[in-house]
Amino acid sequence: MTREQVFEFFRRLAEDNPAPETELEYGNPYQLLVAVTLSAQATDVGVNKATRALFRQVSTPEQMLALGEDELKDRIKTIGLFNTKARNVIAMARRLVEEFGGAVPQSREALVTLPGVGRKTANVVLNCAFGQETFAVDTHIFRVGNRTGLARGKTPEQVEAKLDKRVPAPFRLHAHHWLILHGRYTCKARTPECWRCPVVELCAYKAKVLAPPKGRKGFRAEGAEKREGAEMSHSGRSRSLSPD
Ligand code: SF4
Repeated sequence: MTREQVFEFFRRLAEDNPAPETELEYGNPYQLLVAVTLSAQATDVGVNKATRALFRQVSTPEQMLALGEDELKDRIKTIGLFNTKARNVIAMARRLVEEFGGAVPQSREALVTLPGVGRKTANVVLNCAFGQETFAVDTHIFRVGNRTGLARGKTPEQVEAKLDKRVPAPFRLHAHHWLILHGRYTCKARTPECWRCPVVELCAYKAKVLAPPKGRKGFRAEGAEKREGAEMSHSGRSRSLSPD
């Protein structure tokens, strides 16, 4: 993609959803850090279900330590890998209290030293909680970057480096959200919904799906359902396309 095409790509994704937010629910940076840690190999909806009650009681690492590992396990037992995640969250709380005064550090270098926190989690926290222009490459962004030609790479780190280099200034803060939402709701893994994709003319993917598979509902009705379920405005974009 040329620089102009990259700009247009994000302009279109931004059009209907100028200030996207993570779908994880949280009240402060510490709760976000916990929620992102719990979200590995789990859905945001599933994490929110468990954390809604937990976060009413726990909003600091000190309170998490007071809750204890066994009780935490019980609170998050509906989330996959909850034993390991509970262990990590408690160890993380201990380190935050002992080495960071109970505050969430605002640098990637410090964040990745916390138990259960990798580069992707650190990038999400830096972006969503502290407004830093980071690119947390998850499975959706990895797929969208490679398919479209926006940011190709064999590893998440390579895709992240390309995005860092190519995403222009007005879109850097929210780029990772737009790409996640685009991958989650439109550029899906198995069947990308190219027939209603806002960036179809800019995308280099060779196997575009330019009409809904037989038996699928019309995309307008489907988009409306998603808006209700996910409160995600750009999923319902109507864009009539014919195969080229
Ligand atoms: S045209 Fe298809 S493959 Fe390309 S970004 Fe859109 S949904 Fe994905």
